[in-house]
Order: sequence, then C-alpha cells, then structure tokens
Amino acid sequence: MSHTKSPDRSNASTRTNNTKDDDRRALAGLLDELAAIYREVDASFAGQSCPASTECCRFGVTGREPYVTSIELALVQRAIATRGGARALGRTPPPLASSEDTSRGKRRLTTVDERVCPMLDENGRCAIYTSRPFGCRTYWCERATSPAGVDQRAINAFVRRIKDLAARHAPEGDLGRPLTRALAGAGASSGPGPRRRR
Ligand code: SF4
Repeated sequence: MSHTKSPDRSNASTRTNNTKDDDRRALAGLLDELAAIYREVDASFAGQSCPASTECCRFGVTGREPYVTSIELALVQRAIATRGGARALGRTPPPLASSEDTSRGKRRLTTVDERVCPMLDENGRCAIYTSRPFGCRTYWCERATSPAGVDQRAINAFVRRIKDLAARHAPEGDLGRPLTRALAGAGASSGPGPRRRR
C-alpha cells in the first residue's frame, strides 16, 4: 500500500501549517509589544512601593480583582505553561499577618473567603511576577507609598495602549474580564480556575 499523500491533501496540510506558523508569529509579536509596554509601566512607576502584604492578591479581602484583556491573559497563560501548567499553581500562601487585616477593623477571613489569586505561591510571591497583568502593576492599596503621587493620566494612557493591542489580538479582546473568570474561561488546560475549597 502506498503512503504517498495526494497533492491536494499535501497542499491543504501545508496551508494549515503555514497558517499556524503565521498565528504563532503574530501572537509572539503582540506579546513582545505587551512586554515592552510593561517595561515602560514599571519604569514609570518605579518610585512606588508597598509593604508587600499580598492583600491585593486576596480578592475576597479587597472586594475587587484585576481585570485582564485577552492579550494580558495570553501572557499569563504562557507564563503558567512555562511553570509546568495549572498544576504548578494554587499553592497555599502564608496567611495575611494579623496586623494587616485586623488593625484596620476587618474581620479575619478564612482562606476560602479570601479568594486568593491562584498565582500567589506558598512563599507569598506572585508565581508569574514578570508576566503579571497591568492591574497588578498599578493596584496600590492605601498603604502604598508614592513620592510623586499616582499619575492617573499616565495610567489611562497605558490602559488605552494595552486595549488597542488586545483589540488587534482578538475580537473584543479589549473588553477586560476579572482575572479568575478569564482564566477559568480559558480552560483548565491553559490555566487554573478560581481557587477551590481546601
Ligand atoms: S497575578 Fe500575581 S500580582 Fe496579580 S493578583 Fe495574582 S498573585 Fe497577585
């Protein structure tokens, strides 16, 4: 029996491979552009600092969560894949120091109620730090210090650029979604869902 491919099938297969290569190159280009914007963001807000309490990574504590565009999610997914996939995440981080959550009159929450970001690792660090979304780079709580003040116009300008990039990445990619919902929607194979009850 001959294993020679028919010319038609062979051409279709080549076209499919070429399309995939083009898609991969296009995505890599957009991710490079996003990384360049993030470098500008980090440089612009280099004077900011905070006590690194990890409170902003506990969405049940803050009552809010970073929103991500499609291209930011793609970078997060790539970082997760680099770390071995979703199974490498979802570790139990150290608890919030009692001085952090009770001194300001907040009741102490259980780990489940805290809704900890799945990327917060067992050492209380972001497992995908260099790829974290824009919202995580500008998400300063009231204990953060900023010598020059927060430049809201600069933040808005960065948001516009990231949204423009996301619109080129996917239809409606510029519409931000809460990080955990976006990860869950991206599928278990490409990222973890919301933290499960332990
Ligand atoms: S992605 Fe990283 S910085 Fe952002 S909320 Fe999650 S653990 Fe915190």
